[in-house]
Amino acid sequence: MRVTFATAEFSPIASVGGLAAAAAGLVGALRRSGIDVDVLLPDYNAVADGVVDTIELDVPLWAGPATAKRVEHPVAGSIYLIDVPGIAKSHPYLQPDGNGWLDNTDRFMRFSAAVAAFIRQTSPDVVHLNDWHTAAALAMLDPLPPSVLSLHNLAHQGATGGEWLELLGPQSAHFEWWGGFNPLSGAIAVAHKVVAVSPHHATEIVSDGQGFGLEEPLRARGDALIGILNGIDTTVWDPQHGGYIEASFSATDLSGKADCRDAVVDELGLVDDDSLLAVAVTRLTDQKGIDLLLPLIELLDEIPLRLAVLGSGDRHLSDQLVAASQGSARFAFVDGYDEALSHRLIAGGDLFLMPSRFEPCGLTQMQAMRYATIPIVTPVGGLVDTVPDVDAHPRRGRGFVMADISSTALVSAVHRAVRRCSSRRLDTLRKRVMSIDWSWDAPAQQFIKIYRDISH
Ligand code: ADP
Repeated sequence: MRVTFATAEFSPIASVGGLAAAAAGLVGALRRSGIDVDVLLPDYNAVADGVVDTIELDVPLWAGPATAKRVEHPVAGSIYLIDVPGIAKSHPYLQPDGNGWLDNTDRFMRFSAAVAAFIRQTSPDVVHLNDWHTAAALAMLDPLPPSVLSLHNLAHQGATGGEWLELLGPQSAHFEWWGGFNPLSGAIAVAHKVVAVSPHHATEIVSDGQGFGLEEPLRARGDALIGILNGIDTTVWDPQHGGYIEASFSATDLSGKADCRDAVVDELGLVDDDSLLAVAVTRLTDQKGIDLLLPLIELLDEIPLRLAVLGSGDRHLSDQLVAASQGSARFAFVDGYDEALSHRLIAGGDLFLMPSRFEPCGLTQMQAMRYATIPIVTPVGGLVDTVPDVDAHPRRGRGFVMADISSTALVSAVHRAVRRCSSRRLDTLRKRVMSIDWSWDAPAQQFIKIYRDISH
């Protein structure tokens, strides 16, 4: 089976967020299962050489000239880098000042036109599109190929003016959205299967107020909308062989975990006592609920608990965290995006805090459990699928679920976790969460089944 997989991000070539890791993780697992995948990625100029093949793409005048250059990347494998006017930039979406590039609509519409041309010229068995950056490709194809649309982030839809509808072609009527053009709503309407990044999120986004305005087109798809949980790269997040952490450990021998905690406590200058260490590794945005941590910081002495946060993003949040950390022996904040430190922190933590307001899937709770760190989460999105509460589900619980999305609920869940995790039962829980398979193997099999179903 041959699949065309189009994405705006692919780790490690072009990485902004979860899309890059998800695209690379899924494609790797599909290829290991014998699926022939042509990956189409914008040519942001991030790969200097190694072109082994070039295809001229037959795109409309407004989108060209367009070429697909195949490279053999040492980590990512075979990738087609799609060159269209304006696509190469220092960041896929953002200007240095943090605002989006002014021509983002034009850039990704041209990319989508190139994706459509590649599909016409190569006739794959299945087309797999990701998010709005590739969604408009379906507007330009007739007949429509068997297609899957993955929804990684409904907050971004690429909605723009109705003038685009004239340029699109055969399926454009489906892409009209309140007088304008919406790539995502159109692709949701016409793709054979629409896949959210977790089963619970697939049920949330059809509920009023939770589908970023797309509730109706999503509801209209009925059974064609499903959720498949993302995986993580279990070779990178590996407590037994990981290169990042102080000491290795496993479900049968957890002793190295204490060394990891000691090392990170020392590194961050936290007080050296035997209280538990809670950690958070996150983007600093409203979505992640990091502001809900602030009242907890005031209570660390009483609980008692130590807390370390690694995060980058909104200035008003980092300023508050910096202020709270000053003079504190129990709370440390590191402002930045630091992959190596994220491993040391997550491996060294006893508890992992994730008070997200919404969370389509969430990867860090899985990374935490891989490192035997017990998650405390809100009851939203993929957190519902991955973290059953240990008190509600004593035999299969994996962490602590907050009663709602508030500081009070967070503090309550932390108290509950500290009481439970100070006992011997902690090791049982740690072993349980470490033994879960978070790899891409199972999700890839679910996608392969979909590919087979829609291409026959
Ligand atoms: P989102 O994609 O919404 O940011 P996820 O939990 O799905 O959240 O994925 C975030 C990814 O980014 C994880 O792999 C996590 O380890 C990583 N990450 C987030 N913030 C940081 C940070 N400040 N430093 C290092 N890695 C981070």
